[in-house]
Amino acid sequence: MIGRALVLNATFEPLCVVSSRRALVLVLDLKAELVHSTGSEYRSARACFPEPSVVRLAQYVRVPRQTKVAISRRSVFARDGHRCQYCGAQAENIDHVVPRSRGGTHSWDNVVASCRRCNAAKEDYLLEETGFVLHEKPRAPRSRVWLLAASGEVCADWEPYVARVLHKSGERRDPAA
Ligand SMILES: [Zn+2]
Repeated sequence: MIGRALVLNATFEPLCVVSSRRALVLVLDLKAELVHSTGSEYRSARACFPEPSVVRLAQYVRVPRQTKVAISRRSVFARDGHRCQYCGAQAENIDHVVPRSRGGTHSWDNVVASCRRCNAAKEDYLLEETGFVLHEKPRAPRSRVWLLAASGEVCADWEPYVARVLHKSGERRDPAA
């Protein structure tokens, strides 16, 4: 298994996930400092290095606000907590809020996780033509890190940094959004 490392910006804000090997290269090039190690080591003929699990960039990197996350069954389920956004049951399908046959797009603000029953019952109707109410307005996930956390792929070492992002993206529950 290839180890993964969380890369933090100079401000400790999570940026991305890379292989721990790539993270080690950043550390050896003095582009990043080691924050946590997995406890394992990389050995070469001359030396051994701790395998990074969290590194922090030496210089601040400006990040574009919108990081695009691809729409897939997995990513939509992760965003919606694996719950049907109409009735709260276990999600089994992806539903287009405005059906594609009615001009709906395959975009983050028009796809939701849905149970098979709601998905089938909604058919090709618009929300206002049915009794269905959305649990919350769907929107694009804020960052890849949020998505990683939502899909349960976060190592224990990453949690303090990722939790801050999760806490901040609690704003996605804001009913006014
Ligand atoms: Zn449902």
